[in-house]
Amino acid sequence: MILDGKAVAKKIETKIKEKAKEFSDEFGMKASLHTVLVGNDEASRIYAKSKLKTLKNLGMEGEIHFMDEDSREEEVIELLKNLSSRKDVHGLMVEMPLPKHIRKELILPNIDPNKDVDCQNPTNLGYLLLGFEERAPSTPRAVIRILEEYGVGIASKSVCIINRTPVVGKPLALLFLNRDATVIICHSKTKNIPEITKRSDIIVVAVGKPNFLKEDMVSSESVVIDVGINSVDGKIVGDADFNSLVNKVSMITPVPGGVGSVTTMLIIEQALRNAYIQMGKVY
Ligand code: NAP
Repeated sequence: MILDGKAVAKKIETKIKEKAKEFSDEFGMKASLHTVLVGNDEASRIYAKSKLKTLKNLGMEGEIHFMDEDSREEEVIELLKNLSSRKDVHGLMVEMPLPKHIRKELILPNIDPNKDVDCQNPTNLGYLLLGFEERAPSTPRAVIRILEEYGVGIASKSVCIINRTPVVGKPLALLFLNRDATVIICHSKTKNIPEITKRSDIIVVAVGKPNFLKEDMVSSESVVIDVGINSVDGKIVGDADFNSLVNKVSMITPVPGGVGSVTTMLIIEQALRNAYIQMGKVY
């Protein structure tokens, strides 16, 4: 079975459209998402512009604040502080990756935690560690959302996540733990990954390598969630060898049309949720 991320995204989109209209009718302004983009990373530019177009189509507003590749850390911090203090800015994020000379650990804490839409302020990661999921990062939430929409049971399941970053693997492990799964996190120094993946009920792969997860690493019962986004000969592919896995495993997400579609929609939804909270209401 193919787990259709686009269908899940559509469902979230329908609610956003409705609630964005309610918001502007009630408060006389549109809920907004502002993105800070430093440097010339082409993929980030394409992604940020597409996100902006989508949110405008849904009745929200936003802006991409482009900064030069050689911007100083102080300049990025100043912009983030300024945007954080504006009443008309409800959602705020910094597009990754940043130029090498910009230290994300210095600049991300300057995003107001209440405006943060992708758990970039470490305060929100701390809340997640304590079990508060409202501001968890979008990609891990997208993984869980897809599983829940398709009724895949998580409690007592064994989960293997191949990724240990603060953006994907670590927060995702917490979300699974909160749902009573047993989690193993694998990374580049893990020995014998196929042995672990084969005996896991749910496999989440996010290594950034095309065809990493192959037929001999899964079982017929496996549920495979492919987070990877890779460009091969101008085509976007995931980390799983989709064509050989699709007929072997129990469930699998495609790329494109899987986790990525849901991630974008959850970022936009988070900006809208923040807007409601800032007006003292619940989304
Ligand atoms: P990253 O920072 O490069 O991290 C990759 C992770 O995979 C690391 O934990 C790394 O282990 C592990 N890894 C790399 N090679 C491995 C190997 N041979 N065996 C086992 N583990 C290995 O990448 P990222 O930013 O987390 O993103 C990962 C992928 O997900 C990329 O394709 C990215 O484009 C995609 N992504 C998608 C979304 C979405 O919404 N769909 C969001 C974010 C990222 P070490 O820690 O040991 O280096």
